[in-house]
Amino acid sequence: MVDAAFRPGRGTTMPPVPQRDWALFLDLDGTLLDIAATPAAVVVPRDLVGDLEAAAAALDGALAIISGRDLRDIDQLLAPLHLPAAGEHGAIVRLPGGRRDEIATKVPEDWIETLLRLQETCPGVLTEPKAHNIVAHFRNAAAHEATVRRVASELASRDPGNFELLEAKMAVEIRPRAVTKARAVDCLMKAEPFAGRVPVFVGDDATDHDGFGAATRRGGIALDVARVFAGRPGRVRAWLKRIAEVVAP
Ligand SMILES: [Mg+2]
Repeated sequence: MVDAAFRPGRGTTMPPVPQRDWALFLDLDGTLLDIAATPAAVVVPRDLVGDLEAAAAALDGALAIISGRDLRDIDQLLAPLHLPAAGEHGAIVRLPGGRRDEIATKVPEDWIETLLRLQETCPGVLTEPKAHNIVAHFRNAAAHEATVRRVASELASRDPGNFELLEAKMAVEIRPRAVTKARAVDCLMKAEPFAGRVPVFVGDDATDHDGFGAATRRGGIALDVARVFAGRPGRVRAWLKRIAEVVAP
């Protein structure tokens, strides 16, 4: 059955019909949630938490959130859910049952201080230090984009063996090279109830391409929000809502 939410626009492909043997990996911002002016300003639609819970139950618990946010942030947004999740692009993975798999490398303190100072010298820039990586947003400071990019690039170049600079939507991020969303998928796919299932990764950003690769290498499916859902998180949510209905118990 094709309904309005599933009808593809020009240049897009149809989202696949959900299957009972999937392991579903979902990015948050720009995938399940519409992008807001700042990360703190996102709105969690009324039905999302219930729909995630129902989809997770339909997949016997094989549903995880894979985000650039930290775990606390993910849990706060999706409260009272406490899903298997990867925070900070895979730096910390919370496995089913609660055990954590975390990398050791962290962005040096003086780099964090340098990027925090940009908030004072470049009004509108928002610096978000996390446990392992750091993001500088310039969504509200377009005039300072070049400065933010230059400073972040110079810092990352001090230790290119361990750190890399990433382009995000209206932001740059420095993160340890060992951290990717592929790491998150690989960690979770070794654990029950993910193990042995077909990984399906839904994401919208450059960092999601690592997750896409991890899913397809295992015979799974990569769903790019731009291509499959016309770039609209609302369409991803409509598709998510259908999972519990389509996947017969
Ligand atoms: Mg995203």
